[in-house]
Amino acid sequence: MVGNWKTFLSALVLCAVLAACESTPTHRPPITILPPQPRPVIVYPPPPPQTNPPVVRPPQPPPFVVTPPKPQPPRPPVLPPPAYSALINGAQWISIEAWGLGQGRAQFARIGAESDWTHRLQVNNTTFDLKADNRVVLCEGSQLWLGYAPKLMKGHLYIHPLDIQKNLAPILAELPKTHRVVVIDPGHGGENRGTQSVFNKAYEKEYTLDWALRLKPLLEAKGWKVHLTRSRDTSLSLADRVAFADRVKAHIFISLHFNSAGPEHTGLETYCITPVGMSSHMGRGADDDTRTALPNNAHDAPNIQYAARVHSAMVGHVGMTDRGVRRVRFMAVLKGQKRPALLLEGGYLSNPEEARLIAMPEFRQKLAEGVAKALP
Ligand SMILES: [Zn+2]
Repeated sequence: MVGNWKTFLSALVLCAVLAACESTPTHRPPITILPPQPRPVIVYPPPPPQTNPPVVRPPQPPPFVVTPPKPQPPRPPVLPPPAYSALINGAQWISIEAWGLGQGRAQFARIGAESDWTHRLQVNNTTFDLKADNRVVLCEGSQLWLGYAPKLMKGHLYIHPLDIQKNLAPILAELPKTHRVVVIDPGHGGENRGTQSVFNKAYEKEYTLDWALRLKPLLEAKGWKVHLTRSRDTSLSLADRVAFADRVKAHIFISLHFNSAGPEHTGLETYCITPVGMSSHMGRGADDDTRTALPNNAHDAPNIQYAARVHSAMVGHVGMTDRGVRRVRFMAVLKGQKRPALLLEGGYLSNPEEARLIAMPEFRQKLAEGVAKALP
């Protein structure tokens, strides 16, 4: 009702205005042109924040990352090719690069700063890292001691011919086909107790026997016929051990030991007989005449083949300090052997931490697995 009354009153007012207009046509005021009014500035309030429903996006493709090039050490200079051999101290030493590139699928590179180059030779799947004036070569990352430290001449590394013949070349060759008869020799036994653990006063003879007993079934599972020189706590001379290997016609002999020295010494070592013409790593006061030819020198090539494989597998599997494949002449259990022969040192019973490890059956199982892995 109120709305109708308002409409009616509005119509009345409109009629009165129109009537007035009609009644005064002659008093029209002059047209005044007003200056344009400034447009009011309309300030819009900011839009209310959007409350859109969450959008499920498809997963992004992985970002295409362009890695900026790392700062490179200065590149070794490109040297003219080396002479194949060079006369050093009366012997023709051989360029590791020239020799290596003649061995199958091979690559050679110098790595690092010039003052400390690593000379890397890769042949097929085997990598050797050598340094000047350093007898240790890294073979597939584990240490092997050369007879002579390589020498640098005009930027090229030269290596003694005996190290080519007795170390590098055999390692590159395939393992000889052999009957699979192995003698495992747990070191010491009976009255000969070996060294003593600083961790629990246990004797080396117990641990070497346990290592051998763990290794035996692992090798048997790979098809080896395994003989132990002793399977109990019995005394056995070194000559008896060699004679035993002859009696069972062993094709390879492996003696197991644990080490002892100052408490700071740690790690794994593998020993085989020193080739004629080289000096040993250890003499224990014994004569180390480099001209000495021992019966086991007839097996120089397979000695280093097995030693390098077993050592590398042990170090890799157990993860202890690597003390390398080393050479000796004095070890009676090796020097008279008529077959490839190794002596393994599975850590230091004189080092508190290693003595604690060696006391653990799990650790000795790892040692056994490492050795078994290396044999074909
Ligand atoms: Zn021993």
